[in-house]
Amino acid sequence: MSNCTLCQTTGGQLLWENDLLRIIDAQDPQYPGFTRVIWKAHVAEMTDLLPAYQLMLMQNVLKIEMIQRDILQPDKINLAAFGNMVPHLHWHIIPRWRDDPHFPQPVWAAQPQADDHARDRQALRLQAIQARIPAYHAAIHSMMP
Ligand SMILES: [Zn+2]
Repeated sequence: MSNCTLCQTTGGQLLWENDLLRIIDAQDPQYPGFTRVIWKAHVAEMTDLLPAYQLMLMQNVLKIEMIQRDILQPDKINLAAFGNMVPHLHWHIIPRWRDDPHFPQPVWAAQPQADDHARDRQALRLQAIQARIPAYHAAIHSMMP
């Protein structure tokens, strides 16, 4: 485990954790609110987890989704689990807006060219989301058991 990044670091700004999982803000400058729920042990697939742990993990993912809906009010929320790069099962919870830099593509897609008008809209959107991030983090702190 000594050279595993997610064993050595939290992988972002720690928002909440228990013995089994942690919730971090990915601190993506283009996508404020981009959050990950990371299983702490080396587990590759959801079906490697005991059913009770599968449920616990998904309940936490869905709590984050609900908090994003309440506080950030995105047009869409993207949930994704790849785990191709790290040996930790983790879920991405990404708030999306129709005027964000990649929409309707995934945030990992090549970024389309944006004209000045689109860039202005994206900058305004970014400011509006960033203004809500403290409330978003506070909600995660307070709503988790
Ligand atoms: Zn690890």
